[in-house]
Amino acid sequence: MSALSISDAEKAWGDVRALAGVSLTVPTGSLVAVLGPSGCGKTTLLRCVAGLERLDAGRIAVDGRDVAGPRTHVPTHRRRIALVPQEGALFPHLSVADNVGYGLDRATRRSGRIAEVLALVGLDGYGDRMPHQLSGGQQQRVALARALAPRPSLILLDEPFSALDAGLRADLRRDVRAALRADGATAVLVTHDQGEALSLADEVAVMRDGRVVQMGTPTSVYRTPADPWVAAFVGEAVLLPGTAHQGRAQTPIGTAPILPTAADEAPTPVTVLIRPEQLDLTAAHRAAPGAVTATVLRRDFHGHDTLTVVRLADGTELAARSLDGAEHHGPGSEVALKIRDTVLAWPRQRG
Ligand code: ATP
Repeated sequence: MSALSISDAEKAWGDVRALAGVSLTVPTGSLVAVLGPSGCGKTTLLRCVAGLERLDAGRIAVDGRDVAGPRTHVPTHRRRIALVPQEGALFPHLSVADNVGYGLDRATRRSGRIAEVLALVGLDGYGDRMPHQLSGGQQQRVALARALAPRPSLILLDEPFSALDAGLRADLRRDVRAALRADGATAVLVTHDQGEALSLADEVAVMRDGRVVQMGTPTSVYRTPADPWVAAFVGEAVLLPGTAHQGRAQTPIGTAPILPTAADEAPTPVTVLIRPEQLDLTAAHRAAPGAVTATVLRRDFHGHDTLTVVRLADGTELAARSLDGAEHHGPGSEVALKIRDTVLAWPRQRG
């Protein structure tokens, strides 16, 4: 059974089609990230699911029950949905326990559920504190505990980590996912942060211009993006023009096997996707057969790996990721590049 099912949802603001036919299914017990750039319609989608906006067309069902449709608009408080906003979700004059218990029925309050969800989010013993005595990260934990407390059908997380600094964000992400799993909750996370979506979610729905352009596991979205736009949006991408013929693509940096795409009995113009980690980078004098030479423009050292940006003889710039050894290739040095494995290619429009 799916906790949330959206079919052909449409919503316009004047001339802007914020939702241009969105279909999306969220299996019970899973965490689905809706990932897309600013303005693609993520917040509008979340607000329509929560019942804060009405759809122009399409349907939304929660746990198999229609909550929004041509003649249906179930009010927010009857949808069994909890929303965790970016920040500012707590009542400032209520203690942590009262914030979490707000709106719970008496039986649930007495059952120890408040202490249970506070423990789940790592705030055991914080019940008597007031919101202003908590850090931003702790406040977001309380907001999540409050969302979990009534065991809703669905929890909506609207960029819940965006107001926090990077270190806190990583800890909180991990703990939020653990708390959702431990409680068996179903959640939709809206974010424009690729790393967040790929690291947290069971499935990622990539949105662009009011549509879901791809939905799949983080690995499949990263490894087999639907088109060059998704490829570049979900990770670092080197997109090169090439020619596909009989299972291989000829590119400005040599040839490589391609995943089966369109028929290529005749040479076909394609756009080839190469992730920086699919490129082997060596010193020019150690070039492997078929490698091309390039000049290093700059290096970005990330501790666990190094991204080296190079320029080919024809002026093309691209990046290669190496786990070690790249420290020898300073700006200005000559290097050799070779595609390591199978790459993805899409037919290119002529003209
Ligand atoms: P962001 O990540 O910047 O929050 P988003 O993906 O959540 O963006 P939405 O906020 O859903 O995108 O906006 C989608 C489009 O609809 C945008 O063009 C936006 O300007 C427009 N829009 C959203 N809400 C309204 C509104 N209340 N009135 C008019 N236009 C709106």
